[in-house]
Amino acid sequence: MAVIDIAIIGAGPYGLSLAAHLGRTRRSFRIFGEPMKFWSEHMPRGMRLKSEGFASNLSDPNAEFPLEAFCRERGIDYADVGLPVALDTFIAYGTEFQHRYVPGLENVQVVGLTHSPAGFELSTSSGEVLQARRVVVAIGIGRFASLPHTLENMPASLVTHSSAHSDLQSFKNRQVVVLGAGASALDIAALLIEAGASVELIARTDTLRFHDPPREPRPLLERLREPRSGLGTGWRSRLSCDLPTAFHLLPESIRLRAVARHLGPAPCWFTRDAVVGRMPMHLGATLLDAQIVNNRIQVSFKQREERQSIEADHLIAATGFKVAISRLEFMHDSLLKRIRCVSDTPILRRRFESSVPGLHFVGVVAANSFGPLFRFAFGADYVAKRLGCHLATV
Ligand SMILES: Cc1cc2nc3c(=O)[nH]c(=O)nc-3n(C[C@H](O)[C@H](O)[C@H](O)COP(=O)(O)OP(=O)(O)OC[C@H]3O[C@@H](n4cnc5c(N)ncnc54)[C@H](O)[C@@H]3O)c2cc1C
Repeated sequence: MAVIDIAIIGAGPYGLSLAAHLGRTRRSFRIFGEPMKFWSEHMPRGMRLKSEGFASNLSDPNAEFPLEAFCRERGIDYADVGLPVALDTFIAYGTEFQHRYVPGLENVQVVGLTHSPAGFELSTSSGEVLQARRVVVAIGIGRFASLPHTLENMPASLVTHSSAHSDLQSFKNRQVVVLGAGASALDIAALLIEAGASVELIARTDTLRFHDPPREPRPLLERLREPRSGLGTGWRSRLSCDLPTAFHLLPESIRLRAVARHLGPAPCWFTRDAVVGRMPMHLGATLLDAQIVNNRIQVSFKQREERQSIEADHLIAATGFKVAISRLEFMHDSLLKRIRCVSDTPILRRRFESSVPGLHFVGVVAANSFGPLFRFAFGADYVAKRLGCHLATV
């Protein structure tokens, strides 16, 4: 069996950007996955991106096809800052990027990954088994959806995670409880209202902290105090974007705290008008339990020391994601055991390499090692250039 140099698992912004750069090298590689699947199947249609236009690019070797170029070609309004990018536009851009720069993408899932004398053995959903010297895991966040324990065993007809939805039209005329106070929760609530659902929000936080709309141009002093970056304004975000290698050198405890605390899930300025005053919001509320009553969901929560309950046709938990590589069922146990981890995330060396030589992790799984930049598409350029360059030479 022929052994390829590199296998990339996942075809989102990270996998596609890296593949585009590897296409320019002499390395033999294959990339597996459905292009932009997380964005097209696990985010609600009608959503707009949180990242600004200039921070929503995939990375090609000549830097000739940023989102701006795609929008120009298609006659879509575009601005570097201040004009939210429609989800549909971003999906169409990623798909076009794949056609142009990664035409060899194989639209199959990797269902098995283990060691082999050559390095690694992968099996795919089409039944093929192949060998690769190196593997780059670029699987994004979709596999790590996190539900509160109380909701874990509820039927999907009554309780779902926010990432289970791309089309909210089926909730027309239905009562829906949305749990959470982040961007996903408020986006979903806004789109449910637009679809004709009756929505109530339950959130732990006492106040919703919407991001402010970006202001451009900004006075010099403000630009110095709060420099702009692909992750927003402020020095922490700026340093995360410019110096991921320095971040990697920080002590582990500092890195973990920084990644957990930096850029909480605040909702965007552009959803404020669509939700404030348009639905009951139970803020400062702690979820207690949930029960099925007459085929509906009854949710109980504590608010100001009082127990309250509401009933609805469905509950959507916009309760985020928690990376846990032990949940990667396609990885063989013997391989998983060899990956040194902290908080169930791989401890990565330089070049995004895990403790298993030749096994690399990029995107959100790399954030605890290299910083918050890698929770966003903006980090794909760094990975494609740095890791692409390294893989071309090893
Ligand atoms: C609601 C929501 C909104 C967001 N908005 C933004 C935003 O505005 N801007 C931003 O930068 N980031 C945003 N993010 C974060 C976003 O998830 C990451 O930026 C982005 O997905 C990173 O790209 P990726 O390539 O790492 O992952 P993904 O885009 O998730 O791509 C990974 C791909 O790998 C595939 N895959 C997984 N397992 C396998 C397998 N075994 N075999 C083959 N393929 C596999 C998945 O199906 C997926 O398509 C948002 C996240 C959420 C949940």
